[in-house]
Amino acid sequence: MEIKKNTFLISILWILLIAVSFAWNHAQTLKEQERLALHTARSLFNHIIITCRWNTRHGGVYVPITETTRPNPYLQVPMREIKVNDSLTLTRINPAYMTRQISEIATAQEGTQFHITSLHPIRPENKATEREEALLKEFATGVKDAGFFIEDEKKTTFFYMAPLKTEKSCLVCHNKQGYKEDDVIGGISVTLPLTGHSPFGILLLAHIGIALTGLFGIFVSGVRLNKAYAIIKRQAVFDALTGIPNRLSFSEHIFKEFHRSNRAHEPLSVIMCDIDHFKAYNDMYGHGSGDTCLRQVARTIKKTLERPGDFCARYGGEEFVVILTDTSHKGAMHVAEKIRLNIIRLQIVHEESLPLQLVSLSLGVATSSDQPLSSHEELLKNADTALYLAKKNGRNRVESYTAIVSSPKQD
Ligand code: GH3
Ligand code: MG
Ligand code: MG
Repeated sequence: MEIKKNTFLISILWILLIAVSFAWNHAQTLKEQERLALHTARSLFNHIIITCRWNTRHGGVYVPITETTRPNPYLQVPMREIKVNDSLTLTRINPAYMTRQISEIATAQEGTQFHITSLHPIRPENKATEREEALLKEFATGVKDAGFFIEDEKKTTFFYMAPLKTEKSCLVCHNKQGYKEDDVIGGISVTLPLTGHSPFGILLLAHIGIALTGLFGIFVSGVRLNKAYAIIKRQAVFDALTGIPNRLSFSEHIFKEFHRSNRAHEPLSVIMCDIDHFKAYNDMYGHGSGDTCLRQVARTIKKTLERPGDFCARYGGEEFVVILTDTSHKGAMHVAEKIRLNIIRLQIVHEESLPLQLVSLSLGVATSSDQPLSSHEELLKNADTALYLAKKNGRNRVESYTAIVSSPKQD
């Protein structure tokens, strides 16, 4: 019971440990994911800025007009288009237009989106979203940049935004809007799609796996411990050779029954049994046969006892003891005689045990109600005295302590 309780407690502790580990690992993974996303978004932003600077440094770059690269209607500069010949006309690409085009390529390839935006955009499509507008206002107060996860019903993305500061070269186009050098002219937002599996699912699966493996281990150890405990418990109570209760268990039993019988005013009888000439049996047939004989005798004594309260134990080497609760002396004498006869009926040959040349028992019977006894030790001593008399009177017989006391001539 104690082992079961402890196994259960260890299992609960194990599950708690796994739950804490899961929570900690999940938090760490999210932190790491955020750090990586921020790092990636910053790199992309810086890359765009470098490209923009390159463009600005050249005051815009000319590229051929194609289906996808049309002249920028918001770029009001002289020589926006240059006709090279009949088949080639170049148009000037400013940094904002270039960012838009890079964004289109990135979106098509990886799903990453860039949005160049401003609180006062020249091109209406560059108008800041609500989120971007709030951040642009924060950048104006000195905030360096911002990045966070955005979750909607469909997917999770990482949103990053940093300001675009007015540089000298920018003023060529933007001075008419009233910007000065180092003003926040706008910003670029980077929206990264989150790829791969959710760390929650993978971590949860891994932790469930570890938890189940651990629980299995705890369960197997618990079962093994239980078995070992049952064996130890059995060894403490039962005699290893004969399988009937041992002397220790007899001592506990007689103590309990002696006091219970006294309280209930019930008679309590004890039968001491001893195999006759057993040393000679061992010498003649060997120790192995002696052990077999002891097992047979124990089994026969146990079988002879019919009432549920009857108890027998191995008292010592070739000695056995029987406790008969609520049994009168007459009844105990009857049981003792039955045991003696059943042992003879086993017909175990013992040439040295004369005259029958069979294994036999000598038995001494004592009862507590006939004599006012002070302790169970006294009851045992009386049964032993009766056994001694049985040996003295020729063995293979039952003697009664009551009879000894009532007819002292016999002693
Ligand atoms: P008595 O008729 O007077 O009782 O003679 P006995 O030889 O039976 O008595 P004794 O006390 O001289 O010898 C008891 C023998 O029981 C000694 C020992 O060899 C044997 N014995 C005790 N325990 C065991 C056991 O576990 N296995 C075997 N095979 N023999 C045992
Ligand atoms: Mg003996
Ligand atoms: Mg003996």
